[in-house]
This record gives sequence, structure tokens and C-alpha cells, in this order.
Amino acid sequence: MIVGAGISGLYQLYKLRNLGLTTRVYEAGDDVGGTWYWNRYPGLRCDISSMLYSYSFSPELEQEWNWTEKYATQPEILRYVNHVADRFDLRKDITFSTRVVSAVYDEVNKLWQVTTDTGEVVETQFLIMATGVLSAPKKPDIAGIEKFRGSTYHTAQWPREDVDFAGKRLAVIGTGSSGVQSIPILAQRAADMTVFQRTPCFTIPAGHRPLTEKEVADMKANYQEFHKLQHKSRTGVLMEPPSKSALEVTEEERNAAFQAAYETGCIFAIGNTFHDIRINKAANEMAAEFLRQKIQSVVRDPEVAESLSPRTFPYGTKRICLDTKYYETFNLPHVHLVDLRKTPLVEITETGVRTSEKEYEVDAIVFATGFDAITGALTRIDIQGKGGVSLKHKWAEQGPRSYISMAISGFPNLFVVTGPLGPGVFSVMTMAIEHDVNWITDCIRYLREQSIAEIEAMAEAEDEWAEFVVSAANKTLFPLANSWYMGANVPNKPRGFMAYVGGFAEYKQKCDEVAQKGYEGFAMLSPIL
Ligand SMILES: Cc1cc2nc3c(=O)[nH]c(=O)nc-3n(C[C@H](O)[C@H](O)[C@H](O)COP(=O)(O)OP(=O)(O)OC[C@H]3O[C@@H](n4cnc5c(N)ncnc54)[C@H](O)[C@@H]3O)c2cc1C
Repeated sequence: MIVGAGISGLYQLYKLRNLGLTTRVYEAGDDVGGTWYWNRYPGLRCDISSMLYSYSFSPELEQEWNWTEKYATQPEILRYVNHVADRFDLRKDITFSTRVVSAVYDEVNKLWQVTTDTGEVVETQFLIMATGVLSAPKKPDIAGIEKFRGSTYHTAQWPREDVDFAGKRLAVIGTGSSGVQSIPILAQRAADMTVFQRTPCFTIPAGHRPLTEKEVADMKANYQEFHKLQHKSRTGVLMEPPSKSALEVTEEERNAAFQAAYETGCIFAIGNTFHDIRINKAANEMAAEFLRQKIQSVVRDPEVAESLSPRTFPYGTKRICLDTKYYETFNLPHVHLVDLRKTPLVEITETGVRTSEKEYEVDAIVFATGFDAITGALTRIDIQGKGGVSLKHKWAEQGPRSYISMAISGFPNLFVVTGPLGPGVFSVMTMAIEHDVNWITDCIRYLREQSIAEIEAMAEAEDEWAEFVVSAANKTLFPLANSWYMGANVPNKPRGFMAYVGGFAEYKQKCDEVAQKGYEGFAMLSPIL
């Protein structure tokens, strides 16, 4: 059984079906797509080049699909995912509109007993969570929210039909990636817009444009070679590793490197200009200051420009954003910025949003408040492993844990695609997903060939992996930010760095070694013959 019919769940279904297993996917939404099904807010695009944000498992699929823009829009990605579902006839094994609510491991029969919100109870030997890293929307934690008499929207649960904001006074709460992408377009549609910002982010212009025929043809001719190189890279986007320190070059040379990176519109580019941007505060501050100056050169009101300038965390330690005329939007006369660090948000009233300074009357509120990232989709399911131990409690006590991100000690025969403590969120996710699905499928094939009934990550292996992940993060500036990577955006969420920053290639090598050594770090039980 697979939970989730996004990019992960669909590919996992395809692979397990090819392995000859009877497989069923359960999906809360009424169609495929995951992220691209739920997040339909205006302005959503992928911020990885669309020709990379694609499956690589089928050369035929790669050749027949034509991306039209550098960064694909949400509707185009959703069309792509639907095409994949149809092309490989995947829908027939998916139960839609059904949410998994609990999964309890039966230690005697070595089966997971899974219950859905439709009352179905399913027994499965292998339970694969393809539930997504950014799929559990974070409800805004604001007093009085239920009192508001106007309309409210969450970017991650956006209605299917176009929302008409013409003539409306709109509030947008949240300025992470979803806010940054949607604010410029919402501003074009609303009569008046107030953006409530707690923490400004670093964002660079995406530089949207159509793909040229030559770009598409070149990539299609080289896809296979390209994927081999991708697997040896840190992020899946091929970039020459930097050799110099930002501190050893002249100001002119440094700014030229930052400017060239800025103009690529690639989220990884500025971090890749000098080898110490991610690890040295002084070097990082130079990149941060370069970007703050960009803000000041665009935003006319110096006070607004200052409010939009991030100063409380190093560059790159919170999700970097890509935008289209984000800063320009704050020059429009009908767009206002409220800096919640100066005038904190107090409550939502019947008619608007009240800060410590005043009430802003609005007709509609858009919550761009993000996600309970990486672990949220899993802890929202009542998962009980060996001895009835709940996954939620385990992570509450120990912090988010896994062994090589795909397995959890105490939870046999349960696999997670791009789970906690993996590199997925710092890389091209389609690549990270395909890697994990391939690894999980190979593992299940091995278990069947060896007549092994149960596999479980050992506690010591999990501890070692957690230490390894934390020590990798501690070599960087990441722990200095209150980011969703740290679990810091959700009240009472256990803190701990939830992703592996050492790069995809290193992670893949470790996973390959584990498999080659007969699944080192795992305990296995053969059935009694
Ligand atoms: C707004 C946004 C933009 C993004 N942009 C990029 C990008 O540019 N590049 C990039 O690499 N990545 C991006 N990501 C990350 C993105 O989530 C992944 O790239 C990828 O789509 C994840 O696919 P998935 O199948 O693993 O998870 P998801 O797409 O999240 O799918 C998980 C599915 O599981 C279902 N599910 C969860 N819990 C249950 C349950 N209990 N019962 C039943 N069903 C359940 C959900 O309904 C969902 O459909 C973005 C994410 C968001 C939210």
C-alpha cells in the first residue's frame, strides 16, 4: 500500500506493479498531482528548470513531453502529472478522496493494518508513505480567525475555480515562497492589498521566459548523460563547484560573481559563487548585503525597503525564493506592507486584521502560512509501530529521526519517500524522489528474493545517521535560522534539523553502500519455514 498520489506515489506504484506486487495507492485528493493538485494559487511555478523537474525513468516520456517555459506553471505541471498517470495506466490502482487516518503494525502477522476515513481497513505487508514533504498545510495560528465574515483562502488549499478579487480589499498573511509567488499577481487583481510580513525572505528574479526549441532539443539529446552527472552533484542542478573564498577576492570580483549568479534566476546560484557562502558568516553577509542593495534599488520608500530586507538570519538558511516583480509590487499605490515585527498581529476581527497599531478592514484574507514541513504529513496519521509506540511520540521525544531518511527504527516494513533527514528539500525533488523509490523497490525485491518477512532499521544505525546529519548541518550556517528546516515555524514542534545538507551525491553513495552490504543497519527476520 502506498499513501499519496503525487510524483512519489505514482512512480512508486509504477515500480511495484512492475515488480509483480499487488499495490494500491490511497490519496486524500480526488485526483493525482499532490503538490500540484492542492496548490493552485496564482503565480505558482516550479523554481527548478522544468526540463529538470521531470521524471527520468522513461526515456520515451522524456522525449514525448514538451515543456514550454523555463519554469513551468502549476497548470502545466499538473497536466504533465496527469499525462504520466494516463500514459502508464496508473489510475486504476488508486483510491481517491480517501485519507489514511491510522496504521498499526501487527507484530504477530507482520502486517500493517491501515484505516481510512471512509472506514476501510486494509492489511498490507509493506506500507510506503509517499505523503510529501510540503503537504500538511500549516493552519494560521491567529486569534479570532473564526470570527472573520469575509472570505479566507490558504495558498495550499486553493479553490479550483478562479477567485475573483476585483474591487476587493485583500490581506495576505505570510511572505515565504507561496506569498512571494502570489503577491504580485494578487496585487494586479485586488483593488487594495495589505501584506502582513513577519519575516522577510531572500528572493531573486526568476527571469521567466519560454524555452527555445534549441534548448529543448539539446536537453532531449543529452538527457541520459545529464542524469548520470546529476547523480554526482550536490543538488541535481549542474554547477561547477566554487574554488575561491568570498573573502579573498576584490569587492569588484565578488559583486560581479553575485550579479552573474543573480541573473541566472537559479535558487542555488548565489550559494555556489564562493565556497564559504554556506559556512562562513562574513562571506554569507556579503551575499546578503548584495541582495539587500537590490531591494533598496527597486523599492522607492526607504522604510518599506528596510522592512523587506532580511537581517535576522544568514542568506540561504531559510528557503530561498524566486519571484516575478515581487519588490516592484510594493511601489504600487494600492499595495501596503505591514511589518509585524514593529506592530505585531493581535487578532483577526469580523471585518479585518488587527495589529498592535490599528485594524485593517479587508474583504478577503489569503493565508500564505506554509506547511508543517517534512514530518507533518506523517505525524497527522496515527502510526503505531512495534509495542504500540506512536511515531508522533517517538519524534516528540527524540526529534525527527530516520535511517537514511527512508526507514524508521521501531516501524518495520514501513518506508518513507524523501522522509526526514534526507537531502530532498535541498535538491531537485523529482530526482530525490526517483532515487528513494528505486532504492525502496530494490529493497523490497531483495526481501522477496531472500524470503525475508520483516525489515527494520536498527536503533543504533538510526542514531548514527541522526548524528551524521546534525554534524553536517552544524558545519554550515543553517542552524542559525528559525526555519521550517528546523521545525521552527510550527508551535510546539520538536526542534531538530530535518534535512541532510551534505548533498545528494553523498547521500546516494551512503544508500548504495547500505544496499551493497546486504542492507547494513537493518535487522531482518526470515519467515519460519
Ligand atoms: C508550493 C510548492 C512549490 C514547490 N516547488 C518545488 C520546486 O520548484 N522544485 C522542487 O524540487 N520541489 C518543489 N516543491 C516540493 C514538492 O512538494 C515536490 O517537488 C514534489 O511535488 C513532492 O511530491 P510527493 O509525491 O513526494 O509529495 P506531494 O506532492 O506532497 O504528494 C503527497 C500526496 O499525499 C497525499 N496524502 C498525504 N497524507 C495523506 C493521507 N494521510 N492519506 C491520503 N493521502 C495523503 C496528499 O494529499 C498528496 O496528494 C514545491 C512544493 C510546494 C508546496
